[in-house]
Amino acid sequence: MTKEVLVESFELDHTIVKAPYIRMISEETGPKGDMISNYDIRLVQPNEDAIPTAGLHTIEHLLALLIRKRMDGLIDCSPFGCRTGFHMIMWGSHSTTEIAQVIKSCLEEIAEVTTWEDVPGTTIESCGNYKDHSLFSAKEWAKLILEQGISDDPFERHIVE
Ligand SMILES: [Zn+2]
Repeated sequence: MTKEVLVESFELDHTIVKAPYIRMISEETGPKGDMISNYDIRLVQPNEDAIPTAGLHTIEHLLALLIRKRMDGLIDCSPFGCRTGFHMIMWGSHSTTEIAQVIKSCLEEIAEVTTWEDVPGTTIESCGNYKDHSLFSAKEWAKLILEQGISDDPFERHIVE
């Protein structure tokens, strides 16, 4: 037996959003009362471009570290299969403005400061595809995203400082 399901992300009209943006997907409360929130971290305009796998992979490893240095409660931040951004899942409730400011700060560190020695998990022991990383690509994409600015609204450009 299976049941009817509706996946929120597939209901979004991807032709009307204006990336880069942060969008709240959902806030959910578990049976014990704990709340989690789920965000669409859209870094690239859907169906116009996509971050190549190696750069996206390096951004993923860096965000796992850099987000946790900036805020508590990160459960997971994983790339979309379409390579236009990430799903970010947090304990508790947060504004899209707060998330946008954190992602902006992480991308600034990647673009301006990060060296290869700073990238976590780049060995055969610590990554599932350790040969597929590019810090050069990660930095160039971070710069492009920052040049456009990150909006805390998916439909109207409202760029965070
Ligand atoms: Zn990896």
